[in-house]
This record gives sequence, C-alpha cells and structure tokens, in this order.
Amino acid sequence: MAKQKAKTRKDDLRTGAPFWVRTPHSTVAVQATLTRDRFDVIVVGAGISGALVAEALTRAGKSVLILDRRPPVRGSTPASTAMIQHEIDVPLTRLRKQIGAEPADRAWRRSVRAVADLVDLAAKLKLDCQMAPKPALYLAGDEMGARALAAEAQAREDAGIRAEYLKRAELRERYGMDRTAAIRSEASASANPAQLTAGLLRAAMARGAQIVSPVEITDMAELPCGVALATRRGEVLVAQHAVFCTGYEYLPQMNTPSHHVTSTWALASEPLPGLPEWMGDTIVWEASDPYLYFRTDDAGRVIAGGEDEEAADTNADPKKLKAKAKVIARKLRALTGVDIGKPACIWSAPFSVTDDGLPIIDRVPGFERIFAVMGFGGNGITFSVIGAQIIAAAIAGKPDPDAEIFRYR
Ligand SMILES: Cc1cc2nc3c(=O)[nH]c(=O)nc-3n(C[C@H](O)[C@H](O)[C@H](O)COP(=O)(O)OP(=O)(O)OC[C@H]3O[C@@H](n4cnc5c(N)ncnc54)[C@H](O)[C@@H]3O)c2cc1C
Repeated sequence: MAKQKAKTRKDDLRTGAPFWVRTPHSTVAVQATLTRDRFDVIVVGAGISGALVAEALTRAGKSVLILDRRPPVRGSTPASTAMIQHEIDVPLTRLRKQIGAEPADRAWRRSVRAVADLVDLAAKLKLDCQMAPKPALYLAGDEMGARALAAEAQAREDAGIRAEYLKRAELRERYGMDRTAAIRSEASASANPAQLTAGLLRAAMARGAQIVSPVEITDMAELPCGVALATRRGEVLVAQHAVFCTGYEYLPQMNTPSHHVTSTWALASEPLPGLPEWMGDTIVWEASDPYLYFRTDDAGRVIAGGEDEEAADTNADPKKLKAKAKVIARKLRALTGVDIGKPACIWSAPFSVTDDGLPIIDRVPGFERIFAVMGFGGNGITFSVIGAQIIAAAIAGKPDPDAEIFRYR
C-alpha cells in the first residue's frame, strides 16, 4: 500500500498535480465498485475531456458511467496551464492551405464559440474554478514575422473573427514588449483546470453519473446493439455507447499516424507583487518554435510554459525539467522584464499534436458505437468542449455540422 502511494505521488509530480490539485474543490469522491450495471454510455477517462463529455451527456438525459485507471483529474489535465484559447496552434492562413479555406474558417470560428460556451457553462453550473474571459496576445516570432502576422489578422477578420493587428510601437507602448508585431484578440479565457474538471464531474454526478476508479480498460468490442469493454481485472462492462477520453494514453485501436505524443514543460511562480497591470487579464503566446506562453492566476502567480520537444519520453527526465524551467523563466524575463525568482512549482508532461493542429473527435475506425476524443495541442481544453458537443450530438443521433472537420485521419 505504501509503495502504491509513493508511486502515485511521483506520477502526480511529473504531471504537475501538486500545483493545481492542492487548490480546494479539485478532487472528486469516487466509488471503488459499481452499484448498478446498466448505463447508456461509458466514458473512459476522468480528465477535462471525460468531464465535459459526461456533463453534456447527463444534461441530455443519458445515464453515464465514468471510469479511470487513476483517481479523477490526475492525468494530463492538472498539468495544463489552462489558457483557454480560441486561437488554434496552426495559424488560420496556414490551416487554410492545409485543409481548405472553408473548413479552416469553420474550425477557427467553432473554436471561438467553444470558449464562449465553456465560459457560459461554468457560469450556469456556478463552478468555482477561476474562469475568467481574457484577451489573447499572439506575438511575432521566428515562425511568423510582422508581415505574416498582418496577413493572419486579415484572414481572421475575413473569417468573422475579431483580430487587432498591433505594430511594434503600439505593442511596446501598451505592453512594454519588444516584438515586430502582435495580434490582440478577445474571446479567450483562463481557469483552474483541476477545479473546472472536478466541478463538471460533480455536475454530472448530481445528475446520476457514477465514477469508478481505479479501473483500467484494456480492450473493447462492439455487440449487435451495444459495446463491451474489458477491464484489467477481468470484468466486462456493457453499455449502448463508449467514449474514450484517455488523453495521451490510448488503446492500439485508436492509433493513427497523424497523431504524435510529444513533451512539454511548465512552471508557476510564487504570487508576485507589482506585475504589469495588463498581465493580470491577458494570455500571451508567440509564433516561435519552441514557443513561450504565459498568463497569471488570481493570486498573482505567473504560469508559463513551452519549450516543447518532439520526443514522447523526454518529459520524464528530471535534469531536463530543471533546465527547461530555467529557459522558460529566462525567456519570460527577457520579454517582459518580470523576474519570477525561484518558481513555486515546475513540471513536465506528455502533450500531443496532430499534423493540422485539429483534434480527432470521431468514431474509432471500425466501430459504430465507440468514440474517441483525442489529439489536443495548446488549446486542448477548447477542443475538449467541441469534442463533448460533437459526441453528445452523435449519440443523440443528430450529427454536428462541423463533425467532418475533426474526423479520424
Ligand atoms: C504542460 C501542459 C500545458 C498545457 N497547457 C494548456 C493550455 O494552456 N490550454 C489548453 O487548452 N490546453 C493545454 N494543455 C493541453 C490540455 O491540458 C489537454 O488537452 C487536456 O488536459 C487533455 O485532457 P483529457 O481529459 O483529454 O486527458 P487527461 O487529462 O490525460 O485524462 C485522461 C484520463 O484517462 C485515463 N486513462 C487513460 N487510459 C485509460 C484506460 N485504458 N482505462 C482507464 N482510464 C484511462 C487517465 O488516467 C486520465 O486520467 C496543456 C497540456 C500540458 C501537458
């Protein structure tokens, strides 16, 4: 038992759990065993995606069982810096070239709507999760200079998404940062991801959802009128539908070459007095590779991240964690003049990307009643909202008009 506890703590440290999970209201009581055996939908994974899917399905009147091999909110969700961005990792100008202008514009507009929907949902459910709408500032960097950013701002405006192009002088005057240009846009937000997820899970439970943990799903099959999921301890669970919201760990049946697991790093400072006023209500990221991004929380901590690497396992290297945290802090100081001192918490975690920056929200290939919500980048939480909307619509038999954009590929 002591061994089990030590292992969980180490796992938590690597995923940043000590930072978000030690905030109040960020845990959820679970059952160790099932008290009934018939459910409309089994949701595998109790992170932000599973929580949003369970909330949407219970709102639609479905009976839902949520399973996780960890306690709820202990996967990648508590590692998130939770900048809830309407901006997709792949700029609109580039996405248009990759998938065509019409679907690219729709993906971007859907992302804007998803942030607004999440802010509304958190308010409706009265979730105590530091949800705060914020503008986003996208800085020119080594991947996009001033000219490319001007074209990007124009493309967004053409697609009906407000985007204010700031030249160097204006950026310096309003934000004190020296870059050749930036795009400022409304429509993003930030939150405490653990409190948000726990609140959504509690809302689903209040409508009858059950959460059972630890349960690991090891295989799946489709029956003539339902699905069967096998657990590591030998049970078989049946339901009408199943939704896999398993983050960066997924069954081999869900593997696809367009999806890669990578590594990323983040830190949170101690509360800092005297931060520039704009930092309190702005989320910032840059068009660079590797990139830097940052925001603040209610207590005045700076939460920053980036320095992503292609490899799936380098996030497990403790030496790299310290080195990456130093680089993030140094870049932040160079850009903003803010010295965060010794961080309160540093962490690393797996992350995932797809070739076009869009998530996969679809039936698992070869299955009619089993869905997957996966492949999230820097705006993973926004994509989880879209995932919940598309999956709830599919299970209700009313396909979402944007579902095609997020199909398996
Ligand atoms: C450092 C970092 C910073 C980030 N910053 C941001 C950001 O600023 N903004 C943003 O929008 N996104 C950000 N993201 C991305 C975002 O956090 C993710 O997209 C999101 O947390 C994914 O949530 P999820 O619920 O899909 O997965 P998870 O939270 O990983 O949940 C999946 C769950 O499934 C469980 N599971 C897996 N396999 C099984 C199985 N076989 N059986 C049972 N249970 C299983 C796991 O135990 C886990 O609890 C960041 C990610 C990282 C790592």
